[in-house]
Amino acid sequence: MLSCKDVTEKASDYLDHKLPLRTRLGMRLHLFMCVRCRQYLHQLHTTVRTLSLLGERRQASEQEIESTLETLRHKDKQQP
Ligand SMILES: [Zn+2]
Repeated sequence: MLSCKDVTEKASDYLDHKLPLRTRLGMRLHLFMCVRCRQYLHQLHTTVRTLSLLGERRQASEQEIESTLETLRHKDKQQP
């Protein structure tokens, strides 16, 4: 059976679905019995999700800036 150390080391890969089936099942079994690792994984999951949402938002605003700049460039060209 996996130890708490194993679970914390593999937590990121587990959330990314990168672990082989056998290891995943071991993780699930451990998480079923160990409340600390469950909490750890939950926090990690929340952190990863928040960071990815922030990343998406930043990317969107960069796209908005680019499209706004593009619109301004076109307006410049249209003026006599
Ligand atoms: Zn544990």
